Amino acid sequence: MMTGDQYRASLNDGRETYFEGRVVEDVAKDPILGITVNSGAQGYDRFYDPAPNAIGAFMKVPGSTEELREQVELHETVDLLTHVTYASIMTLLTAADRIESTLPENARRIRTYIKDAQQRDVRITQCITDSKGDRSRRPSNQDDPDQYVRIVERRDDGIVIRGAKLHISAASMGHELMTIPTKSMKPGEEDYSVACMVPVNAPGVKIINTTYAPRHEDPRDFPISSRHHTPEGFVIFDDVFVEKERVFLDANPELAGVFAHSLGLWERLGGLSSMVSGYEALVGFAQLVSEANGLERTGHIKEKISEMLINATLIRASLEAAIENCHITSDGAAFPDELYTNAGKYHGAANWSMMVRHLHDIGGGAILTAPGIADLENQQVGHLARKYMGTMQSVDGIYRTRLFHAIRDLTADAYGGWNAVTNIQAGGGLYAQRIVSRLHYDMDHAKKVALQKAHMDEYIGQV
Ligand SMILES: Cc1cc2nc3c(=O)[nH]c(=O)nc-3n(C[C@H](O)[C@H](O)[C@H](O)COP(=O)(O)OP(=O)(O)OC[C@H]3O[C@@H](n4cnc5c(N)ncnc54)[C@H](O)[C@@H]3O)c2cc1C
Repeated sequence: MMTGDQYRASLNDGRETYFEGRVVEDVAKDPILGITVNSGAQGYDRFYDPAPNAIGAFMKVPGSTEELREQVELHETVDLLTHVTYASIMTLLTAADRIESTLPENARRIRTYIKDAQQRDVRITQCITDSKGDRSRRPSNQDDPDQYVRIVERRDDGIVIRGAKLHISAASMGHELMTIPTKSMKPGEEDYSVACMVPVNAPGVKIINTTYAPRHEDPRDFPISSRHHTPEGFVIFDDVFVEKERVFLDANPELAGVFAHSLGLWERLGGLSSMVSGYEALVGFAQLVSEANGLERTGHIKEKISEMLINATLIRASLEAAIENCHITSDGAAFPDELYTNAGKYHGAANWSMMVRHLHDIGGGAILTAPGIADLENQQVGHLARKYMGTMQSVDGIYRTRLFHAIRDLTADAYGGWNAVTNIQAGGGLYAQRIVSRLHYDMDHAKKVALQKAHMDEYIGQV
C-alpha cells in the first residue's frame, strides 16, 4: 500500500492537467489543488498497512446488514477520493455480476483489474457524465459525433476513445478514470457502448479543473471550505489508446446501462449518508445561532427548527431503512435497498433549499456581513466589533461571529452554492432518482390498498 507521501509523489506522473488557464506542473504542490491532495494523502496514511498483500479496510465488501452499516459509517469519515474509489470498485463488482452470463471474458477482466488496482492501492474517479450536446437527441444523432465518449478506432491490442466527461470530482487527484456510458444505448450505438479504465496520465487525457475553493487569505473566515474542497475535472479524451485488458465493454449496447445503473446505487448511498450529517449540521447551526441570538424559545423559531429536525430524522430513517433492508447477492455481498436509497437521497436533495431557507431566516443578516476574524482582532476597532457582535454575557462576539462564518461558508458563499447545486445534480440529478424510485416502488400494492379503502375489492388484480 502507499503512504500519503508516496501518493503525493505518484501524482507527478506526466499527467496533463490545467487550472485557471495554466498547466499544473505538479498537482500536489499547487496551492489550491494541493489542499485536496492533502485530504487524499491523509486517507492513505489512515489506511496504510505495510503488510505485503494488504488491502485498505475501506475496500471491504460488506456481507451483512451490520457490515454494510459499518462501511457506511466508516465512509462518512473518509476523504472523497477514498470514498469514490470504494464506490467505483463496488460498481465494477456489481457490473461484473450483471454481465457475467453474456460477456464472461469482460467480467473476468473486471475482476482481474480490481485485484490489481487494490494491490497497487490506486485511487479511482468516476467518468460518467458526457458533454451530451443536444439533450433531445441520441448520441448517434448529434451534429458533433463526439458529444458522447466513443470508440474511434479498434486495434488488435485495444481501442482508441474520443469525447469528454464533465464535472468529474477530483479527476486530477486520482490515478485511474473509470470511464463508463452515461446511459443505456441502442442498436447502432455500438461505438458509444464503451466502458474502460484509463490512467490519468495516458497520452491524450487532458483535464481542466474548476473549484469553489476560497482565495481569501484568512482560512478562519472560511472554516469549512478552506480545509475541504473537491475540484471537478473537465476530462477530455483526445484520441486515447486503452489496452484490451482494460476494456470492459466494447459494443453490446444492451449492456451499456448496466454500468451507470450499478454506480447509481453506490453513488446515491454515499450521497444519502453525507446528507444525513449535512442535515444534522443545519439543524445544529439553527439551534446554536438561535441560542446565540437569544431566540431559542420564540415560537416561530422553534417551529422552523422542529420542521428541520423532522426532515433530518426522515433522512436518517431512510438511510437506516436502506441498510436494514439490504439484499445479499449470490456472491454474499450486501447491497443497500434501491428504493429507500433513492427516495431518501431524493428527499434530501429536494428539501436542502428549504432547510437552508429556515437557517438563513433564523440566523439573520450577519450570516453575510459578520466582520472577518482579523477585524475582531484589530487593535483599533476589534474590541468594538467584538462588543457589538456579542449578544449577552454568555455569548461573546468571537464565538457568534465564528458561527456566522461557518453558516455563510456552508450555505451562502461559493461552497454553499456548490453544495446547493451538487445536492441536486450529483449522483444523476433528481430526475434519475425519481425514475429509480418508481422502478422499485410496489405500485400494485399501492393500488390494492386504494381499492380496499374504496371498498372496491372486486377490482383487485384487474387494474
Ligand atoms: C459538483 C458536481 C460533481 C459531480 N461529480 C460527478 C462525477 O464525479 N462523475 C460524473 O460522471 N458526473 C458528476 N457530476 C455530474 C452529474 O451527474 C450531472 O450534473 C447530472 O447527471 C446532470 O447532468 P448535466 O449536468 O449534464 O445536466 P443535464 O443533463 O443538461 O440536465 C439538466 C436538466 O435537463 C433535464 N434533461 C436532460 N436531458 C433530458 C432529456 N433527454 N429529456 C428530458 N429532460 C432532460 C434533466 O433531467 C435536468 O432537469 C457532478 C455534478 C456536480 C454538480
